Amino acid sequence: MKFSRLGAAILLLIAMNMVVCTGMLQPSAMVYAQERAVDDEIPPFENRLETDHFVLKWTNKSYHPRDDIKDPEIIKETAEYLEEAWAKYMDLFGRAPYTAPGKNKVEVIFRDIDCYGVADPPDGPIQFSSTAWVDKKTKGIRRPTSAHELFHKLQYAYGFKTKWRPPKPYKWFTEGTAAWSEVYVWGMVSRTEKIDELFKDTNMDFFYEAEDTAMPFWIYFVQGNQEHPNNQLMRKFFEACERLHDGHLALQEVVEETYGPIDRFLDDFAKARKTGFWGGPCDAPYKSILGPEGTDLVAEVKDLQRKLSGSRKATSFPFEIRNF
Ligand SMILES: [Zn+2]
Repeated sequence: MKFSRLGAAILLLIAMNMVVCTGMLQPSAMVYAQERAVDDEIPPFENRLETDHFVLKWTNKSYHPRDDIKDPEIIKETAEYLEEAWAKYMDLFGRAPYTAPGKNKVEVIFRDIDCYGVADPPDGPIQFSSTAWVDKKTKGIRRPTSAHELFHKLQYAYGFKTKWRPPKPYKWFTEGTAAWSEVYVWGMVSRTEKIDELFKDTNMDFFYEAEDTAMPFWIYFVQGNQEHPNNQLMRKFFEACERLHDGHLALQEVVEETYGPIDRFLDDFAKARKTGFWGGPCDAPYKSILGPEGTDLVAEVKDLQRKLSGSRKATSFPFEIRNF
């Protein structure tokens, strides 16, 4: 009896998994789907908005109410953000973001996922969190998250994950440059950490730990905190990635061509993390970067560095005596 009950439970689990995998679960059977992850089933979408480069799909009748978006203006506005990012990427990179084989537009869907956005796998749609999109408190994430997820599609157009996979760790450049794109397109980021974490934790290993918090490095790389940024370097970097299939080698090539030895460049950046990273001319294009709530994060980093260098000066003498 026990065995048969266990057997029935296993069969039920297998059946549920099969249903989830094939995406055939009907709305009436969705009592299980209260907490979902990105890989879980996609609801049917009764609404659709098509623009030059995107097909946006959303629902207001989901079996899972957190998928619902009532106000179509939110979708229209997001479509405009995506088109604007597309145009800026075309201008700088001269290359369109990746579209799935046989498609000439990027599919964008809105549903309840456990992060703000996803653009993985390359052939899949861009997914945005419907809950974060309708929540007034997180309204500020819509612009930067749109640019960020579309930038992943641009990375795929350079072969990342579609033709080559870089050696790990690689998020310092895949997530780091996608975070840079938020600033390049909108002058803002979806999470404060993307700007301030590298400066708060100056010992954090950039290549192993930074991921999207590597963003300031990419501003440093294109001299975005100087009077004349060289955003073309980002294009050169991705062209080198496409050729070399490796972010480290690509970075080394572009840096050495532009600035000289890579070690010196990385050392200078490590120093800049500790002292006055944003001390450049005040009319630099990246002089102000907003957080999702509209706070100027560059001013915050400047304050932080002022405080840290102040406290280093104030405490260095007695500590040096004690330590050495
Ligand atoms: Zn990302």
